[in-house]
Amino acid sequence: MARPKNVKHIIVTGGVISSLGKGILSASLGMLLKSRGLRVAIQKYDPYINVDPGTMSPYQHGEVYVTDDGAETDLDLGHYERFLDESTSQSSNLTMGRVYKSVIDKERSGEYLGATVQVVPHVIDEIKDRLAEQAKNSSLDILITEIGGTIGDIESLPFLEAMRQMKLEMGDRNLLNIHLTFVPYIKAASELKTKPTQHSVKMLLETGIQPDILVCRSEKPLSREIKNKVGHFCNVNDLDVIGLNDCETIYEVPLMLLKEKLDQRVLKKLGFKMFKEPSLDHWRDFCNKVKSPKDGEVTIGICGKYTEYPDAYKSILESFIHAGASNNVKVNIRLLRAEDAEQDSFNFSRELEGICGILVAPGFGDRGIEGKIRYIRYARENNIPFFGICLGMQCASIEFARNVCGLQDANSTEFNKRVRFPVIDLMEHQKKIKEKGGTMRLGSYPCIIREGSKAYDAYRKFLINERHRHRYEFNNTYRQVFEDGGIVFSGTSPNGELVEIIELKDHRWFVGVQFHPELKSRVLRVHPLFHGFVAAAKEYSRGSRQMELAVDMTLPIPAE
Ligand code: GLN
Repeated sequence: MARPKNVKHIIVTGGVISSLGKGILSASLGMLLKSRGLRVAIQKYDPYINVDPGTMSPYQHGEVYVTDDGAETDLDLGHYERFLDESTSQSSNLTMGRVYKSVIDKERSGEYLGATVQVVPHVIDEIKDRLAEQAKNSSLDILITEIGGTIGDIESLPFLEAMRQMKLEMGDRNLLNIHLTFVPYIKAASELKTKPTQHSVKMLLETGIQPDILVCRSEKPLSREIKNKVGHFCNVNDLDVIGLNDCETIYEVPLMLLKEKLDQRVLKKLGFKMFKEPSLDHWRDFCNKVKSPKDGEVTIGICGKYTEYPDAYKSILESFIHAGASNNVKVNIRLLRAEDAEQDSFNFSRELEGICGILVAPGFGDRGIEGKIRYIRYARENNIPFFGICLGMQCASIEFARNVCGLQDANSTEFNKRVRFPVIDLMEHQKKIKEKGGTMRLGSYPCIIREGSKAYDAYRKFLINERHRHRYEFNNTYRQVFEDGGIVFSGTSPNGELVEIIELKDHRWFVGVQFHPELKSRVLRVHPLFHGFVAAAKEYSRGSRQMELAVDMTLPIPAE
C-alpha cells in the first residue's frame, strides 16, 4: 500500500430528510477502508450551539456517548467505534457551539487585534484550523468528517463554506464530498422518485459544493436507469451513484456498499494506486449470526424512563445485538416503562411473561425510580437474570438496602437530600460543583475485579477500564451491612475506595455496574458483561421452557 503524504479527507453530508443514516454510512465506509489496510478516523461536526450534547435531554438528542477521555459526544461516535473498532476522543466531535465559544474567547482575549469578528472569515477559519489540526495530530491516511443536519439548514452553512474552501485549497485528490440522499418509492406509481435528490444536490450546489459521490438511500434497489438519471441531473458519473437500500440490520450496510463498489470509487478518486482486497469474513459471519442465529431467541426487558424514544438507549441496544450474535441467539427487546410498575395493581408476572432478563438503564432524576426498584426486587426474588447500569446499579443498591438490609426508606441523595440511609451519595468533590456541563465523573477509569465473581467469569482478568458518566457513588458506610446481606463488591477502584461492581452471591446472574459497559461493546469484540448477561438469559429461558413443558404435561386441561 502506497501511503499518501498528507491525510486525505472525506466529507459526508446528508440531504432531503434527516435520519437517513449518515453516521452508519460514515462508519461503514471507514470500516471498509480500514479493512483494506488504510488508517482511518471518523469525526462528527454538529451544527447546534450547545458546547456538547452533555446537558441535552435524551428526548432531544438520544444517548450521550462518552469517550475514554471523558468527552460527552454525539451518539454517532458510538457507531464509529463499533464499526471501526477504534476509540474516538474529545476532538472527534466538534459542535458549532464550541467553534463560536473559541472565536468569542479569542475575541475577548484580543487575539483578533481590533478586527470586526465575523462568520466569514473568523468562524470559517476556526473550523478549517480545527480540521487541519485534527488531520495533523494523527497518523492517518483518511479522515472522514460527517456534517450533522440536513442540507438547507441555516446553522450548518459555516461548516459547508469551510469545506468548500478546503476543497479549493487542497484539490479534488485530497478532499472528497459524499452526499447521502433519499430516493422515495411511491407505491401508487410503483416508482422510485429522483426529484428530491435532484433538489438536494441543487441546494448543495448553492453552497458551492458539487458532490463527488451520491449515496442514495431507498426502500428498493436502484436500477441502472435510475442511477443514470440521478447522475445525469446531478452532474455525477453514474458509477458514482451508489445505491443503499434498506437492510435487515445496519451491520449489513458495509457489505452492501462493498457490492456497490463505494470504497473502490473513493480510493480511485483520492488517487490511491494499490490497495488490498478487504477481508470481511468475520463481519459476514457476524451478520449471519444476527440474521439467523442457531439457538433461537431470548427476550430481554429494558426498564427505563425514555422508553418511547429508543435512541436514548442506542449503545445498549447495539450491545445486545453483539451479545446475541456471540451467544447465537436473537435478542428481542421489550422496553418497560419504569413508571408503570409504580401502580399497586401492576402485575409483574403478567407484564414480564416471556422475559428472560431485566436490564435497568442509566438515567438522571427521580421519575420512575420507585418502578425501577420494584422491577429489581422482582428480578432478585425470582432469580431472573438482572443487569443494572449506572443508575440501574444505584437502584439495585437502594432496593437491597430497603428489602434485605432492613434500611427502610434508604435512597440516593439525588432523589432525597435528607434521607436517613443515603446508600448512594454525592462524591465529596462533587458537592462544591455548581456548573452542569462536563462536571460529572466522566471517561475511562480502572477497576479491579475480584476473582471467583460473576464479573471475573465474564472479563477473565483482574484489571479492566470502563467509561463513566455520573455524579453519585455507592456510600462506603454501608459496605459491611451489604456484605452481610449477601452482596459481593466484585469491582472497585484500584485504591478500593469506589464501588464499581456489585453482585449477588446467591443468584443466577445479578450484576450492577457503576460504569457504562455499553459504550465499549464492538461488533467483533462483544462486551464481556453483555455476553455473560445474555448467556444467563439464554440458560434461564431454557430452564423456564423445560418447566413449562413439565407443567403442561402434568396439569389437567381446565374445565370450561
Ligand atoms: N444519576 C446518577 C448519577 O449521576 C446515574 C447517572 C447515570 O446513570 N449515567 O450518579
